[in-house]
Amino acid sequence: MKQRRLFEPEPEPTPWELVDRADQVCAQLVFNRPLETPFDYLIPEGLQPFVKPGMRMRVPFGRGDQAIVGYCVGVGRPATPNTRLKSVLELIDQVPILTPQMLELTRWIAERYLCGWGQVLEAVVPAGVKNQAGTRRQLLVSINPERWPGPEPVELPPKQLAAMTALQREGRPLGIEQLARLAQCGTGPINALRQRGLLLSTHERVETGSAEEEKPFERLPDLKLNVEQQQVLHPVLTALRAGEFKSFLLHGVTGSGKTEVYIRAIREVVEYGRQAIVLVPEISLTPQTIRRFRSRFDSVAVLHSHQSDAERHRHWQQIASGRVQVVVGARSAVFAPTPHLGLIVIDEEHEHSFKQDTVPRYHAREVALERARREKVPLILGSATPTLEAWQRAQQGEFELLSLQRRAAGLRLPPVHLVDTREDPQFRSGAAIGRALRNAMQQALAAGGQVILFLNLRGYCPVLWCQSCGAPVKCPHCDVSLTWHRELNEARCHSCEYTTEPPKHCPACGKPGVRYLGTGTQRLESEVRAKFPGIACVRMDSDSMRKPGSHDTALEGFRTGQTRILLGTQMISKGLDFPNVTLVGVIDADTVLHQPDLRSGERTFQLIAQVAGRTGRGELGGRVLVQTACPQEPPIQFAAKHDYLGFVQRELRLRRQMGYPPFESLIRIILRGPDETQVNEAAQMLGNTLRGAIEAGGVTARILGPAPAPVTRLKNLFRYHLQLAAPQLATLQTLWRQHGAPCKLPSEVELAVDVDPINLR
Ligand code: ADP
Ligand code: ZN
Repeated sequence: MKQRRLFEPEPEPTPWELVDRADQVCAQLVFNRPLETPFDYLIPEGLQPFVKPGMRMRVPFGRGDQAIVGYCVGVGRPATPNTRLKSVLELIDQVPILTPQMLELTRWIAERYLCGWGQVLEAVVPAGVKNQAGTRRQLLVSINPERWPGPEPVELPPKQLAAMTALQREGRPLGIEQLARLAQCGTGPINALRQRGLLLSTHERVETGSAEEEKPFERLPDLKLNVEQQQVLHPVLTALRAGEFKSFLLHGVTGSGKTEVYIRAIREVVEYGRQAIVLVPEISLTPQTIRRFRSRFDSVAVLHSHQSDAERHRHWQQIASGRVQVVVGARSAVFAPTPHLGLIVIDEEHEHSFKQDTVPRYHAREVALERARREKVPLILGSATPTLEAWQRAQQGEFELLSLQRRAAGLRLPPVHLVDTREDPQFRSGAAIGRALRNAMQQALAAGGQVILFLNLRGYCPVLWCQSCGAPVKCPHCDVSLTWHRELNEARCHSCEYTTEPPKHCPACGKPGVRYLGTGTQRLESEVRAKFPGIACVRMDSDSMRKPGSHDTALEGFRTGQTRILLGTQMISKGLDFPNVTLVGVIDADTVLHQPDLRSGERTFQLIAQVAGRTGRGELGGRVLVQTACPQEPPIQFAAKHDYLGFVQRELRLRRQMGYPPFESLIRIILRGPDETQVNEAAQMLGNTLRGAIEAGGVTARILGPAPAPVTRLKNLFRYHLQLAAPQLATLQTLWRQHGAPCKLPSEVELAVDVDPINLR
């Protein structure tokens, strides 16, 4: 679906039926389109008893009366009497696939994030649930009680009689094949009985194929909480017992035992017969994380994006039936259909993957807050490096702040040493591992420890650069430099995955001599192998971890100690808990720092703090070496001192001065299209309209831009953006609804509206 305008004009009504009778009932439907209000459709009389909110149905839509799927969000009288309405063509679901609570929550999402209600519904229900993957419709027969035993005895041939007797003996509806087996007859006699009206036929969904047996996990006892953990658990239990909504920000340094606190809170919830949802970043859904929950609870469902449709459907059903105690999953698990929710936990609250990058562009934290509020349950947001947004809300009393300042089990946070790369000639000759890091690695390995190396760039060389004209070699479709992948000898765009042979001549000036610069994880791996021959090393990045299961295998090899050096991207920066890791090296702390993004300082701090959290988790202790060309930069300095408070205080001051979040809300509008002039003009027009509205209405809001987006071209489309900023989000929502959304744009220009944007590329 091309998303051009937030609210499309109402489709031209084709006359269908005039609603003039008081007893006519309508279904209010929303569609997977950027439309603001539901549409009324007449429900044919035969369907009336079956139509319920939360079901999907097929209806004619738009000029061509094309049959499309709509979600029923209400049943009742038409909004305006005496209007011409079209009718529902058919029902898709026999029972609602959405609960009334979920309908309300999704409506709230649509309003907050300025998109269509139907677009949210479409995204919330997994595809496997919509198409009932892994099940088939089965015909069941049962005895018609009005005819058998009838007032007068019915004479039946022996085979039909056998079927009736078998069915009577079983006392429940059976499939035809199954009945035929039991009665030792063919399907013929059974069909004859159906025709005679002695048997009733119904349909039922049954699972095809049996569910994979969950491996039983060794049950582990609860740990004895330390004093700090007990102190933070106490207010959570109080809220749980009171059965009230309350939000907590659990700020606990890495290894402080936050998970143990979650587990205790969940234990309480499970005792009430309720369910808990635990959201973790997708990349933290490792076997290790899952094991931690499975070893403590009887019934844990895991939701992640690698599951098949059938698996997702089965889990959804199990959750909805109330059989699951704990749901662990990534962002979208916030929609898990738990019938009696008791608690929501979001671990690693600062992770950007909790914000969805496509419509609906929701943030799981905000949705979880709203859901917790509506279902009157507590919410725990946990992190070693909470976002400034969460921290500020805790300061203002919206969240209750809980803190764990020490590592559990009496371990210390590792010392962090900054290594100035400008002083080491190794780097000038192209190495990525400087002298200090190399020595530290040798020491750690000699003492029997393991090493983690972190680098935020994948590929071999992240920059191709022309020696003659000085231009980087860019993707022909995007405004992004190509990365050289040596294994396949290709130049690849990390935005659109375009690949080409590495150019011998500069595409800009035509001269030969394209140089490959910088180090990605592949090149780092070669360097490690050259510098540490004979030491087992594994690389984890999205290139090396394509195959399903490779992730688990790599981590398992590291856990057993077979692999001594683990290197990789973000994939290895969080959640890993290996006591034998005595050294963590950050290859380049500056990759994020220099990005033109209001959160670059925050990200740099988080990155170092999280990576540092991977060591010092055992008796051997541990340390961290951070290579940087800017050791004086405050985010790096604060991270080296493990000083989160110092960092947030300074950063909040800067954000306040700049009018950035969390002090002002932002809405980012991105316009894209094939013709740059047209996109620019549309952006200017939109900007002028909004600016005019702000001035005319005396609205407290600002417009930044319009301007070319930092990545001006992506997948052949030119991108311009503008940002609306105001102290109150509601101001911006109203401004957009009244003045932005109604703007008419050329049909080639697509529009994306991002409320609380995180990705500013
Ligand atoms: P976080 O999630 O805060 O980074 P974890 O929950 O992973 O911390 O805990 C870090 C380590 O400390 C784990 O190995 C965990 O088993 C251990 N741990 C947590 N709480 C306790 C406790 N009360 N006593 C002993 N060990 C604990
Ligand atoms: Zn590209």
